[in-house]
Amino acid sequence: MALTETSLIERYFRAAGAQRSDVTLGIGDDAAILSVPPGSALVATTDTLVAGVHFPHGSPAASIGHRALAVNLSDLAAMGARPAWALLALTLPEAQEAWLQEFSAGLGALAQEYRVALVGGDTTRGPLCVTVQLLGLVPADAALKRGGARAGDALFVSGTPGDAAAGLALEQRRLEASRAAAEYLRERFLLPSPRVALGQRLREYASACIDVSDGLLGDAGKLAQASGVAVEVLFEALPVSEALRATLGDEGARRLALSGGDDYELCFTVPTANITQLHAQLPPAQWGYARIGSVRAGDGAHVLRDGTVMEFSHSGYQHFS
Ligand code: ADP
Ligand code: MG
Repeated sequence: MALTETSLIERYFRAAGAQRSDVTLGIGDDAAILSVPPGSALVATTDTLVAGVHFPHGSPAASIGHRALAVNLSDLAAMGARPAWALLALTLPEAQEAWLQEFSAGLGALAQEYRVALVGGDTTRGPLCVTVQLLGLVPADAALKRGGARAGDALFVSGTPGDAAAGLALEQRRLEASRAAAEYLRERFLLPSPRVALGQRLREYASACIDVSDGLLGDAGKLAQASGVAVEVLFEALPVSEALRATLGDEGARRLALSGGDDYELCFTVPTANITQLHAQLPPAQWGYARIGSVRAGDGAHVLRDGTVMEFSHSGYQHFS
């Protein structure tokens, strides 16, 4: 590499994230030292993005940087945690300054937005691959988990799932849309918005939560399995964006909302006794979430349409073939 590893880190990563007083020692030594406040539990997650697997080869570098952090922020959001510190393991085929500049700007902007300090990492040469480890804080014993849903709870989802899967299909030219719809949908894939604030507020109201990364129905099924219950999704209640509806029609949009990936929304359950407070404190229109169904005794994730069970394939790809 023309750029040495040390100057690359200095130039693009030392100042990329937020400054935090709980970073006792950041980038530069063999490891970082972080101070966890008394009464808080440390919440840790990591996710890897591999070129050609998790994003198309040639994706904008700013999007790769943004998504590498966003997918981890979404995991912490689902736990109700407040993000704090990130480590970045970056494998690059070559050190291209323009690419690094864009990548660190994309990652850095999101880190600043959520006050995440970049406290270390590793830089290696090889096929493009980005791993972020993200650490956050939650009041002791207050984290949201997948396993807390009970029969009778209401089921909710944030945002408009399906948009990101359509955005990826547009990127890969497997789908066509109007210019305005395409612009919106592609941005939902390239620059997802993790629901960090919502996740933290849901600690007060929700019984269980999962982040939607592999398709709403599949992820709702994981929540159901962890909780030992069944979830029922009402097809008519699925929130879909105008752009997705204009592109795929109402039926196709709702199907993709169930099966598409890369949404980074939250799927959560709320005991009926908490719903009035939830709606009063976090107005759904303002916070961007909607009720999509219920929890009952049983197992699995089921879709109901006009009161009858709908047979449903989990694969998103069929919609564009
Ligand atoms: P080591 O030889 O211990 O692996 P490195 O030379 O890889 O150390 O890293 C030097 C410092 O820079 C360490 O503090 C490390 O955490 C940090 N670092 C390395 N790569 C990155 C990166 N891509 N982003 C942020 N910090 C990094
Ligand atoms: Mg190293």
